[in-house]
Amino acid sequence: MTAEPTRVLVLNSGSSSVKYQLLDMVENRRLAVGLVERIGEETSRLVHTPLATGGERRVHEGPMADHDAALKAVAAELAADGLGLDSPRLAAIGHRVVHGGLRFTEPTVIDEAVLAEIERLVPVAPLHNPANLTGIRTARALRPDLPQIAVFDTAFHTTMPEHAARYAIDVATADAHRIRRYGFHGTSHAYVSRRTARLLGKDPSEVNVIVLHLGNGASASAVAGGRCVDTSMGLTPLEGLVMGTRSGDIDPAVTFHLKRVAGMSADEIDELLNKKSGLVGLCGDNDMREIRRRIDEGDEAAALAFDIYIHRLKKYLGAYTAVLGRVDAVAFTAGVGENAAPVRAAAMAGLEGLGMAVDADRNAVRSDAPRLISPDGSPVAVAVVPTDEELEIAQQTYALVTA
Ligand code: ADP
Repeated sequence: MTAEPTRVLVLNSGSSSVKYQLLDMVENRRLAVGLVERIGEETSRLVHTPLATGGERRVHEGPMADHDAALKAVAAELAADGLGLDSPRLAAIGHRVVHGGLRFTEPTVIDEAVLAEIERLVPVAPLHNPANLTGIRTARALRPDLPQIAVFDTAFHTTMPEHAARYAIDVATADAHRIRRYGFHGTSHAYVSRRTARLLGKDPSEVNVIVLHLGNGASASAVAGGRCVDTSMGLTPLEGLVMGTRSGDIDPAVTFHLKRVAGMSADEIDELLNKKSGLVGLCGDNDMREIRRRIDEGDEAAALAFDIYIHRLKKYLGAYTAVLGRVDAVAFTAGVGENAAPVRAAAMAGLEGLGMAVDADRNAVRSDAPRLISPDGSPVAVAVVPTDEELEIAQQTYALVTA
């Protein structure tokens, strides 16, 4: 039995949750996956699936006061399967960090200076970076000797040219407050654009891809020869596509109007646009399955919400076709993109002029595998490519520690 350090623990720490996966990078398999939810509440819940032992899923309910308690519970679960954090086979811990600003363009070994920089970015990512930092600090306390790597959601987008990254506002104001378009979901856009190239039998450097990451949060990116040249999210994840609860693109004057005529505060408008808008604001539901079910029953609000969602997608497909000049593939990914055939069909309907079309039979197939859904000979390949952000984080982490 080899005791080589070939394993990576991936941690995705949110404000009240931690998702984790333990992967073996040489055996190429997942050893354990799990999730802690509702940290800080009475009803915290840990769900652990020990894939390596083939054991039953284990669920623990009961209060976990903070991330420290949550990570210790995760460590105990892993240890119970013989996969404890003290194992010499653990090579590194890879952390998802949402905002890396302009400074972090690559996965980065975490030290005090890196922590300070992630902290400095809190004003532009107030919901995410503090949670990511808590997860990192807790993990470092548990294994101070182990390399811990930050993989940034923004990193893939740092190749965007200035003309795509800058807002057309006063430069001094923008620079003083680091206001620019950073983009998010970068780990997914990176993974899916490369995986799409492979599906086409090409190197990423040879293809131009539009990636549509459609989850509860949603973003589009234009990737030219493996480099991101534009993406739909901006300073924050609010810009761009219609999402589950976020408005996406909106005239910024709506915000001053709400302040002036409705007397709403900045926090209230923030909450409105981030939590009570998008699909949920339009029809009361943010789950695409429920929206489709309501449409089938003749519900008009659900139908309009769907149409607005699709219209925005088409606008980005057109825009990114123009940005790229030549599109080789469109890739649908994340919860909606991977599962909702009606969304893919509707987004592509009428885009034959752009060389884009969907074959109805191929689109209807349900599968976990990356696959083409466009007709044979279509000028633009349309694909469904399941995203795997944890695998991408693990690969980037392992590549860095074994370099
Ligand atoms: P996030 O990571 O942003 O929370 P996901 O990528 O997991 O989101 O996507 C979640 C969304 O995917 C759900 O809100 C739902 O709208 C959609 N979804 C999941 N499964 C299906 C399905 N079978 N059909 C249609 N939509 C689905």
